[in-house]
Amino acid sequence: MNIVIMGPPGVGKGTQSHGIVDTKGVVHISTGDILRMAIRSGSELGNKVHEVMNIGDLVSDDLMMEVIKERLSQDDLGNGWLLDGFPRTAVQATAFIAMLGEIGQTIDTVLVVRAPAEEIVRRLNGRITCRACNEVMNLVGFGSSRPKFCPFCGSEKDPERGKPALYQRADDTEETIRHRLEVFRKKTLPAAWLLEEHYPLFEIDGLGTPEEVATRIAEVMN
Ligand code: AMP
Repeated sequence: MNIVIMGPPGVGKGTQSHGIVDTKGVVHISTGDILRMAIRSGSELGNKVHEVMNIGDLVSDDLMMEVIKERLSQDDLGNGWLLDGFPRTAVQATAFIAMLGEIGQTIDTVLVVRAPAEEIVRRLNGRITCRACNEVMNLVGFGSSRPKFCPFCGSEKDPERGKPALYQRADDTEETIRHRLEVFRKKTLPAAWLLEEHYPLFEIDGLGTPEEVATRIAEVMN
């Protein structure tokens, strides 16, 4: 089974992806995670994308097509994949549709999770991420003090570099969030409507608890 999950930053794609991976047995491919890992490892790809990502702009379509081709050629995808963060532009969507045709694959479900901009800004402003296990959480849940240890994996430090495990992503500041929302509306929504011409697409209301959103997703996928 092959699935694409789309939506503005902070709408809960990552959280919902974990649930889908558990129930469907597919492999989660987050292009944002791939790029962040490349930055951390200091690779050539990481150096190329670092600045663009920090200001909330999109990495070039050519580079992203290379990243996705490389990832989809790996041999752990027999049960299918869940793509999170790709395609992000009409150019990527068009190239991806052609590429899938060439390799004889299809997309079974495209999920577009949506929520109003003000809700997204509220959620992302307090979002922190764990360098050790990649989980995301919201400061709102921790009262006034910022936690020292990751509540998911218990780490205090990033095992590779010794930096504090919990950090706010450079692109999770209010100004950058608003810019990323604009990028989503102008560039990524058109990509979704292109996919809709070829594959079943469902719009999902991203408001409410993660469990409520998961139920809406399960309803359209069953
Ligand atoms: P995400 O973790 O999905 O929010 O992605 C973080 C950042 O990675 C984005 O703001 C972009 O700078 C970059 N990125 C991830 N996926 C793509 C893509 N498909 N096309 C272009 N840039 C991307």
